[in-house]
Amino acid sequence: MKNLPIVLIVEDDKAIVHLLTTILDANDYRVVQVNTGREALSTISSHCPDVVLLDLGLPDIDGLDIIKNVRQWSQVPIIVLSARNRERDKVEALDLGADDYVTKPFGTAELLARIRIALRHVSTGAPDTPTGKAQNGRLTIDYDKRRVYLDDHEIHLTQVEYKIVMLTMLHIGKVLTYDFIIRCVWGARPTVNNQILRVNMANIRRKLEENPADPQFIITETGVGYRMIDHAEENI
Ligand code: CA
Repeated sequence: MKNLPIVLIVEDDKAIVHLLTTILDANDYRVVQVNTGREALSTISSHCPDVVLLDLGLPDIDGLDIIKNVRQWSQVPIIVLSARNRERDKVEALDLGADDYVTKPFGTAELLARIRIALRHVSTGAPDTPTGKAQNGRLTIDYDKRRVYLDDHEIHLTQVEYKIVMLTMLHIGKVLTYDFIIRCVWGARPTVNNQILRVNMANIRRKLEENPADPQFIITETGVGYRMIDHAEENI
């Protein structure tokens, strides 16, 4: 038997469990499934899954409390399965340490892409001072020289703009909340708000994107934050 990645589904809705199991079985994942938060906590410690798909609305423990608990002892990637229009839940889940979220109803391709990204970037733990170069499609970032290139053409960014681009590259494919970006770039100064971040992002897009209204690199996750599209994933 092949050593398949284990996906733990934590979900109490039988129809969704059935759908997820079918999709994951067909795509070479081993599925473990539980219906409650209590079982989720014991199964994460006993089965060491490679990735957890977590519904927030469970019958016993709130999904957010599960994230908080698990993050005290495990860095297993957690992808939240979230109902539409609950942006505050998404933000809180991400700030508590969830890696990503998928909005219900979800598309198969998107779900599988999110799982692959979570597995690919597992435990690499973004370093504070990255070195070397990283490439994402036409975009290249040279961490040593603190320079950004589109194809071979250097893009002139301010310090703050560079930090934002660097941060999204280090967490490529993952959504970063506004608060997270502000903390990392400005050190959580309360005078800096989302508006200042938005202005910087608009400037970055003007410099980086052919059409800033339809960004190909850093996209907006409405009400939540920003995500650097992983161009190794063409399905998103
Ligand atoms: Ca539920």
